[in-house]
Amino acid sequence: MFNQLLVKMIPLMPKSLVWAVGKRYIAGLKIEDAVKYTKAFQELGGGTTIDVLGEFVSEKERAIKERDASSFVIDTIAREQLPSYLSIKPTAQGLGIDTEFAYENVKMLVAQAKKMGQRCRIDMEDSPYTDKTLDLYRKLQDEGYDNVGIVLQAKLKRTYTDIQSILKYKPNIRICKGIYIEPAEIAYTKKEDIRSNWMKCLQLIAENIPNGAYPAIATHDEEQLQFAEKLIKDNGFKKEQYQFEMLLGVREERRNRLLKEGHNVTIYVPFGEDWYGYSTRRMKENPEVAMHVFKAMFGIGQ
Ligand SMILES: Cc1cc2nc3c(=O)[nH]c(=O)nc-3n(C[C@H](O)[C@H](O)[C@H](O)COP(=O)(O)OP(=O)(O)OC[C@H]3O[C@@H](n4cnc5c(N)ncnc54)[C@H](O)[C@@H]3O)c2cc1C
Repeated sequence: MFNQLLVKMIPLMPKSLVWAVGKRYIAGLKIEDAVKYTKAFQELGGGTTIDVLGEFVSEKERAIKERDASSFVIDTIAREQLPSYLSIKPTAQGLGIDTEFAYENVKMLVAQAKKMGQRCRIDMEDSPYTDKTLDLYRKLQDEGYDNVGIVLQAKLKRTYTDIQSILKYKPNIRICKGIYIEPAEIAYTKKEDIRSNWMKCLQLIAENIPNGAYPAIATHDEEQLQFAEKLIKDNGFKKEQYQFEMLLGVREERRNRLLKEGHNVTIYVPFGEDWYGYSTRRMKENPEVAMHVFKAMFGIGQ
């Protein structure tokens, strides 16, 4: 109850405090910060996916700036030879403005990445964009851009069917719970139901590994992690056939253990000036973190 109240208070919190807590989820304001994190994790044998913070852009000019910033990430990955790939937020590329315009922006990035021998992935945002994002992905695949992956959210009731509908592409799918608040008509709302759908969806992707599907297993949930580990072991999947993915600043010890146990692990590394939306979503997800902000605001336990 108190946690729910705290979550509602997040928009009222001073930005400086949100930054003080939210910065644990963000590499920093500049690409150099993302490079630094990538190199540090590379030393342990891991990789990253780099995201330029920004979303729900409402002007074409701004979307072009976002595209150019992402293009610079691809150049940087190549120049610094980083074990990394670009994650793309479709609304930062203009999906909320004009579908064709966004498609051209994303295509430019995917084509650039392909030319440089890199993969990239389209993140999934809230449900008004699910169909448009999947259409974008399908169109790119149909045009031969097999270096692009997608994200699907176990929270949405449609996701199992969505996976079935793209299996023909030998898809690289990041399967996650989904971070956006969605209406109960289209989404599971209980934690157990989301978890069980996540497992069902992962199982479906894993069954299709022999046909070329590739799961990016995105979770910090212990039950889900153990389910995935068992699935991998029972089926004898090789480390090249899947990867675990975690967010920067979350369950780092567990993440490093997965790495030590011989799995491929990728950290999601966001950077940029537009950190507010990303940070507050992470706080809403974990009210314990919001509690730190609350305590700081009122000088409790400091
Ligand atoms: C690599 C990656 C990419 C993602 N991309 C997308 C995307 O494109 N679209 C989308 O909707 N969602 C995305 N997500 C977010 C995802 O949907 C979930 O919201 C998020 O991963 C939390 O779900 P969980 O499975 O870790 O379970 P949870 O039950 O939320 O978390 C399990 C445990 O992890 C720890 N934990 C989780 N979150 C935090 C936190 N913020 N701070 C501290 N501890 C925490 C806690 O110990 C918690 O008990 C992504 C997640 C990852 C890992």
